[in-house]
Amino acid sequence: MTKVLLTGASGFIAAHILDVLLEHGHSVVTTVRSQAKADKIREAYPKMPKEKLDFVIVEDIAQEGAFDEAVKIEGLEAVIHTASPFHFNVTDTQKDLIDPAVIGTTGILKAIKKNAPSVKRVVITSSFASILNASKGPSWTDHTYSELDWNPVTMEEAVQNPANGYRASKTFAEKAAWEFVKNEKPNFTVTTMCPPMVFGPIVHYLNSLDALNTSNQRIRNFITGQVKSEIPDTGTFIWVDVRDLALAHVKAIEVPQAADKRFFITAGYFSNKELVEIIRKNFPEYEGELPGKDVKGGDYPEAGLYKYDNSRVKNVLGIEFTPLEKSIVDLVKSLKAVGA
Ligand code: NDP
Repeated sequence: MTKVLLTGASGFIAAHILDVLLEHGHSVVTTVRSQAKADKIREAYPKMPKEKLDFVIVEDIAQEGAFDEAVKIEGLEAVIHTASPFHFNVTDTQKDLIDPAVIGTTGILKAIKKNAPSVKRVVITSSFASILNASKGPSWTDHTYSELDWNPVTMEEAVQNPANGYRASKTFAEKAAWEFVKNEKPNFTVTTMCPPMVFGPIVHYLNSLDALNTSNQRIRNFITGQVKSEIPDTGTFIWVDVRDLALAHVKAIEVPQAADKRFFITAGYFSNKELVEIIRKNFPEYEGELPGKDVKGGDYPEAGLYKYDNSRVKNVLGIEFTPLEKSIVDLVKSLKAVGA
């Protein structure tokens, strides 16, 4: 049993990490941006005593020193840092995406080194965005993505559009974390998680159909009739279930061999067309909202796809992957619970 600080527990992925941490018997202090969010999470765990689940408010991780006080927790042994903006409503790439990602990551590492000497393990949620080379496109068929790859995105490209800005924010943040380890030689190990598109059930107590995390929005758009005439391009063709990703984060603080490693965590390929067909098969009640069977778009590219190597996360952390159909069915059920 370990005392863990989890950042951003109001997030889609972090809500599942919190669940797994508590299931595994760990004590959790979690950061949220407001008391109202802390209250909602607390209500979802009415029987959990304060020693097992507690909260600390960190309003804006982009502020220097934001975590300096939050990490001062007696007996704190591990930190899981997930909080980072993932959206494309951007007016200023630096302020809206890059600063919270990079300053958030370096800020928490500096705070731990300065104020939390008992911490031994730090896990950071990075992304496939920090691995992908977007200039090669999806049909880079002779390439196998793995932990060895780094996104070559530059600051100049980052400001060209919000998707580049998001990918750059994750790349720069993860690079800054590894630089910190190299230069500062801290007393703790660092592990990074690099998932692609994350699907799976949302927790009902934090969500509504309007305020849904970015990666699940495409499913909501299908079942609410927003894309009936053409299935949009898939974009990233690989995915992972949120519960498998949450377990990997928790294993990363439990398994000694996870220390100082980067993990590329994907279950495999998907296309938007496949998502639509899974919904059609399992939820006939949405037939009227979905793109019809003959509607074009959203398929795999004819030229093929890049390959992926997900062996490290299976071998070191023992992760077995949830199938796509189960992930999407559970997600749609959870969207129904908030009114879809
Ligand atoms: P969410 O949008 O659901 O969660 C993001 C979390 O970060 C929220 O708790 C949010 O708080 C918090 N946050 C964002 N900006 C700030 C800030 N300036 N100060 C304090 N807190 C902030 O996204 P996900 O759960 O999907 O993402 C979690 C992590 O996983 C991110 O690091 C993301 O980059 C990464 N990731 C996600 C993927 C996906 O497909 N979902 C894929 C790959 C990586 P609040 O709710 O209060 O706004």
